[in-house]
Amino acid sequence: MFLQIALPVPMRTTFDYRPPDGSPPEKTPIPGLRVKVNFNRRELVGIILSVSERSAYDSTKVKFCEEIIDTHPCMSPALLDFCQWAASYYHHPVGEVIFSALPKALREGKSIDVRVEKIRHTSEGKGLPENALKRAKKQNQLHRALLKADKQTLDIDECLALEISKSTIRALKEKGLIESFTETVAEPHTQALHINSINPGDTTPELTLLKETPQQLNPEQSTALKSLRYHQFQCYLLEGITGSGKTEVYLHAIARTLQSNRQALILIPEIGLSPQTLSRFERRFNVPIAVLHSAISDGERSKHWQSARSGKARIIIGTRLASLADIKELGIIVIDEEHDLSYKQQDGFRYSARDISIYRARQCNIPIILGSATPSLESLHNALTGKYTHLQLTHRAANATPPIIELQDLRQQTLYGGLSTQAMQALRTTIDAGDQALIFVNRRGYAPTLLCQHCGWSAKCNACDASMTLHSQPTRLHCHHCDRRRSAPKTCPSCQHPQLHIAGPGTEQTEELLSHAFTDVPVIRIDRDTTQRKNSMQEKLTQIDQLDACLLVGTQMLAKGHHLKKLTLVVVVDADQGILSPDFRGPERMGQLITQVAGRAGREQRQGRVILQSYRPDHPILQTLLKQGYLAFAKQLLTLRSQAQLPPFWFTCLFRAESKRAGNSIEFLQLAAKICQKHLPISPQAHYLGPLPSTIERVNNRYRYILQIKCASRAQLHEALRLALVELEQNALTRRTRWALDVDYLEH
Ligand code: ADP
Ligand code: ZN
Ligand code: ZN
Repeated sequence: MFLQIALPVPMRTTFDYRPPDGSPPEKTPIPGLRVKVNFNRRELVGIILSVSERSAYDSTKVKFCEEIIDTHPCMSPALLDFCQWAASYYHHPVGEVIFSALPKALREGKSIDVRVEKIRHTSEGKGLPENALKRAKKQNQLHRALLKADKQTLDIDECLALEISKSTIRALKEKGLIESFTETVAEPHTQALHINSINPGDTTPELTLLKETPQQLNPEQSTALKSLRYHQFQCYLLEGITGSGKTEVYLHAIARTLQSNRQALILIPEIGLSPQTLSRFERRFNVPIAVLHSAISDGERSKHWQSARSGKARIIIGTRLASLADIKELGIIVIDEEHDLSYKQQDGFRYSARDISIYRARQCNIPIILGSATPSLESLHNALTGKYTHLQLTHRAANATPPIIELQDLRQQTLYGGLSTQAMQALRTTIDAGDQALIFVNRRGYAPTLLCQHCGWSAKCNACDASMTLHSQPTRLHCHHCDRRRSAPKTCPSCQHPQLHIAGPGTEQTEELLSHAFTDVPVIRIDRDTTQRKNSMQEKLTQIDQLDACLLVGTQMLAKGHHLKKLTLVVVVDADQGILSPDFRGPERMGQLITQVAGRAGREQRQGRVILQSYRPDHPILQTLLKQGYLAFAKQLLTLRSQAQLPPFWFTCLFRAESKRAGNSIEFLQLAAKICQKHLPISPQAHYLGPLPSTIERVNNRYRYILQIKCASRAQLHEALRLALVELEQNALTRRTRWALDVDYLEH
């Protein structure tokens, strides 16, 4: 017997091993069990993908596994299938894909069984009659619950589900009536669950699922909700302006799914930045929620992962990595802000959580909702061609009127910290009315760079082909590409000119200038530098909520779904970014950003106003965005993409290579192009571009080059890649260069 094993190594293949000698019957090898194997004199944990009679290799040389770790699969067959599909779609080593879906403890070969903290009576407590504690109602409830419980023990989660708090437990412990102990239980996956157990076919009444009474839906929301089919695959694009009540539609659809005892998976862009979204789910539903994202500890993540897998957690909410969770009875997937870049992993296994989730919904035969005020051109194209069901919410739910948007021509203006006189006046008016204003600067730091206007010197990073950003407090230069820092010179290092010029504003500079100009109100800066600490975003939002008039200076972080009640004015300092970008997605991103930021203004009863500052106010796509809105703008971009043979009409991939010598990167990509062209020759349907230097050629002293392949047929492109990679991997050049293949890449 031979086992085909996936190992966490960067090779696009599985590895054959024999089962260990004399393994016990409960460890008969089946797919999904983890094994320990010796691989190149290292001990590795792997996972069995299949079992066969024959080996494709010389069977006399196939080694034995050291050990089979599990007695039951650590990954459901559905998830195992899903990972294998994802590995083949992204042409990524299957072992790396599977291991990125597992929590750390399991990757390291630790037992899948969990240790739970439980409580039981002490001998003194056991002797007490049922109502002995009736003067302390909660304590008596716990006492009775313990008497009735299975084996007269309860775990902490069961207590919380009975609304018995930790302080009640503590009180009984202090009285010496109960004690805690830990128990190792077989992984819940294999047990019958006693709370919230899933019996397919049963339903849970809505009342016990909800903690609060939901909003009465408006007609558009009801229409959207009624279009959803719950027991079949369909992709829905829920397009609705900010504040139109998309989240409310998700909440209703999720309630329906929970009622039929299935689980819901919700993906959001970044948890740290969306504390409000998470708390909205917690406020609404009376069910265990698993939260999966990279900012929680490995231990916590394991626990949440287990509860998703066992079916105990009814809602799983998280960032892109949650798209790889093992979920027992998945009934619906929601992807909020589906256009957001953070759904695409930019290193290692470069997957799109949105795209793989669509495949998963198909695999599970369930609905998936993609929600956005500014859908990606990919999703919009699918909706316009009828592949997805297009649902639209056009009004703001809570009766707020959409903001008035004005373009502000910056040509021949004297600017104050990047702001025009009109913008400064608008800020004053807003503050005087007791409202809040947001100044959107898409650059953190004090200034993008330091220049000498005398000789042309500028502060460049020694290790990258990029300017160093000037930061204040303390004053220093910081490279945002390689993280190098150095002190900022006071005079020009090149011509000794006594004065250096601070180029255009970053968030710090705008904050400083505004606090001088508006001494009567607080100025609050929100960017990656001020929100590094855990919960700091939530704290800032709470602070803003409690303030009246104030000025907020922020980066695109503030463009995300935060609800700022008193915000009535948004100023976009530089609306031109994106139009001139070398990235073909630049204009799309610009339109999304402007629309999202504008959506922050005037969300309650007050009229919102948006000022877009631009040096190219007559640019046609900016004009369309402004006069006809995002949908018309996006349709115009789709026409341009179609003419330029770009996604979503054509399909793309990017080979990336980096090495200490530029020549190595170029040589590798030339080889990759040559091999790919054997299977996909250059033709009117298949284009090759490169090797070209990346947007920033040198980062951290490594030279980065790219090769783009574009093809009119996805199937042809993928077949060619599959064949080419087998050959490419045999070549010694692959070991000299750090390289990656990025399928459906988003950024250069
Ligand atoms: P979106 O997700 O599209 O930004 P939300 O669902 O967050 O919109 O709704 C915006 C605001 O409107 C929220 O405060 C929400 O509670 C409120 N809201 C949503 N739907 C309704 C409704 N049907 N009736 C009243 N208020 C609603
Ligand atoms: Zn100089
Ligand atoms: Zn650098």
